Amino acid sequence: MPVVEKNRDYVVDIKDMTHEGQGVGRIDGLAVFTDGVLAGEQVELKIIKLKKSYAVGKLLKVLRPSPDRVDPFCGVFRRCGGCSLQHMDYNAQLAFKTKLVRDSLERIGGLKDVKVRDTIGMKQPYNFRNKAQYPVTSADGKIVTGFYAPRSHEVIGSDECRIQNMESDRVRKLVAGFMMEKGIPAYDENTGKGLVRHIMTRVGFNTGEIMVVLVINGDTLPHAGELAQRLVDETAQSSGSSMVKSVYLNVNTDNTNVILGDRNILVYGNESITEKIGNYSFMISPGSFFQVNTAQTEVLYSKVLEFAGLNGSETVFDLYCGIGTISLFLSSRAKIVYGVEVVKAAVKDARRNAKLNGVDNVEFIEGEAEKAVPDLYRKGIHADVVVLDPPRKGCDESLLQLIAADMQPDRIVYVSCNPATLARDLKYLDAQGYEALEAQPVDLFPWTGHVECVTLMTNVKNK
Ligand code: SAH
Repeated sequence: MPVVEKNRDYVVDIKDMTHEGQGVGRIDGLAVFTDGVLAGEQVELKIIKLKKSYAVGKLLKVLRPSPDRVDPFCGVFRRCGGCSLQHMDYNAQLAFKTKLVRDSLERIGGLKDVKVRDTIGMKQPYNFRNKAQYPVTSADGKIVTGFYAPRSHEVIGSDECRIQNMESDRVRKLVAGFMMEKGIPAYDENTGKGLVRHIMTRVGFNTGEIMVVLVINGDTLPHAGELAQRLVDETAQSSGSSMVKSVYLNVNTDNTNVILGDRNILVYGNESITEKIGNYSFMISPGSFFQVNTAQTEVLYSKVLEFAGLNGSETVFDLYCGIGTISLFLSSRAKIVYGVEVVKAAVKDARRNAKLNGVDNVEFIEGEAEKAVPDLYRKGIHADVVVLDPPRKGCDESLLQLIAADMQPDRIVYVSCNPATLARDLKYLDAQGYEALEAQPVDLFPWTGHVECVTLMTNVKNK
């Protein structure tokens, strides 16, 4: 008979934590993952899911709390799917992220000598997000906006989210109030009826410009012009420094989990808003990718620039370049920067951004890095420094092979949002003669287990 049974309660010592922020303990050797607990704690939990190789527990009671446990600041913590570590002291979160990177490099990468620096955190880890996407629903005749529950589409209503910009919260309240006043219905996922699905806001922290996108199940919104004007007037009055500059309707009539549809209709103001990072301005459209934490993004990019160690004579490849933010950041210290990105719209934004900033030593190439880089190499265009910033799954092995074995840049700077694939790729590069010297985690996502990390590697092949 198995020792672990579903729906039974157990006392478990939490030994470790995953990058998702779940605690890990063992019952009779079987790993049990539980939300809302911390390493070092003893807890009572109920097994709610049982698989062959692991189980999932639900926290019932903390029997012996960790010294890092704090009261969460948000009333809907754990019911809302946004934050996972609000029960952990902020400095402990930073230490946890440093450890995550170090452990991954050691265990997965077999790399013991990398200097893993302390995670750079925020002085005030609140109201830092520049993009919010609030689902809209209705309950008891009222319009409810908030966030989805973990792994679900249940909307958890809340009036304030302390990780969002305060103007975003104001905007969604104004929209919800307006909908009530005019009788505009929220979309209902189950029936496919109703109109407003999401309220998306994007805020330029360094410019004060706000974009509002109302995602609707149709192509017109009653009183859209009046709503836009109200948003403009109210935000101008309330803050003085931030203001709605652009209002869109986004048409999404599909039965889908994807938030934005393909068509945007501008109902007020400018097509894009501008945000500044360092000395550079970036145009943001409804669908543009842009890091959600502006302040920490500047910290991250400054680290990339430092690790790149440029003197103005180098050819630099910025692979997985998005809208060209890192490319532009590096351009003033390089001879030329080639940015490579697979999403067409992002490449278009990148070229526009280069123009906007009067930068003419960057060139953007649309395509997969693993195809575009061999093409460049064959044409005799070789990089002295390569920046890699891939999505969570990391880099294609053939790309790493070409860079490390054939092109052999002096330095590789690897920006990663996933310590596991980072460690895997660094191990591969290490075997090809690239030694990882230093890793600097930066906290872009306070109150979650996510960690961003910049690593410097140098070519030691011929030494
Ligand atoms: N460096 C940018 C974006 C990083 S996000 C920034 O700091 O903002 C990762 C980017 O890689 C995304 O824009 C994604 O579209 C792009 N991407 C994903 N797979 C790719 C591939 N195989 N080749 C090139 N780009 C890719």
